[in-house]
Amino acid sequence: MSKLESVVKEIAEEMRARPDRGEVATYIPELAGVDAGQFGIAVVDAAGNVAAGGDCDTSFLIQSISKVFTLTLALGKVGDRLWKRVGREPSGSPFNSIVQLENERGIPRNPFINAGAIAVTDVILSGHQPREALGEILQFVRFLADDPSIVIDEAVAASEQRTGFRNRALANYMKAFGVLENPVDYTLGVYFHHCAIAMTCRQLAMAGRFLALSGMNPATGHRIVHAERARRINALMLTCGHYDGSGEFAYLVGLPGKSGVGGGILVVAPGKASIVVWSPGLDVSGNSHLGRIALETLTKRMGWSVFGA
Ligand code: GLN
Repeated sequence: MSKLESVVKEIAEEMRARPDRGEVATYIPELAGVDAGQFGIAVVDAAGNVAAGGDCDTSFLIQSISKVFTLTLALGKVGDRLWKRVGREPSGSPFNSIVQLENERGIPRNPFINAGAIAVTDVILSGHQPREALGEILQFVRFLADDPSIVIDEAVAASEQRTGFRNRALANYMKAFGVLENPVDYTLGVYFHHCAIAMTCRQLAMAGRFLALSGMNPATGHRIVHAERARRINALMLTCGHYDGSGEFAYLVGLPGKSGVGGGILVVAPGKASIVVWSPGLDVSGNSHLGRIALETLTKRMGWSVFGA
């Protein structure tokens, strides 16, 4: 057994035994009903070896982790013009915060808070029907993971639509400043659906490989993005990927990562591995509680922090 395999096995066992789980998100019934006792981990190294453990083959809602893929697509479509519509600074605020938008005239702080991700979705939507834009996002995720079986959970998307009053407020606010080009309901429809993509740790770790490997996906031989773009997306994940918990995540884990309120975290160890952990219980910032602890353990034991061993 390789060192990576034994570390992953140890972590899966240690996490299973822990009593502290955090709190599952309760804003939609599909998340409120998820068993907080679950924990999964999958790591794909640079050579393509996979080390996985726990509930690594159980599907969960990727939620805000989808924002990494939409950012990649929007940059591909409009390049650096994207930065006229959204900033690149950490927000220090909760993921669904409204207050900052007023002070900053409708320009969201970064592409990973909800407002920023809605603006990014609007960029992908322009020139398309919502169905086409959503199809493009789903095809991209399937292509990255090299897995055509990945789907959107329609019941979850419907629940998000029914309860998404804050997201609607954010979108309307941006529309008032001309930051959104498309009808608010169209942009939000696409946003709610891409948050409802369901994937396993293993599928998501495959999809994240291009960020760990300078823009290449060696499984398919495809260059997804230029190396410079991969590096910059990673920088944004490090500074903004965990909302107002981003500083703490960098301090404790030391790797770029993007969390979702479904309890998943996609993490990149540049040149080394793409990593996904999932445990549905969240901390106060809406990031997976056990997921963060598992990643802290993994980077420490593997010496993978970007800040040194
Ligand atoms: N669908 C969620 C929302 O828009 C995503 C938030 C998250 O994962 N942090 O509120």
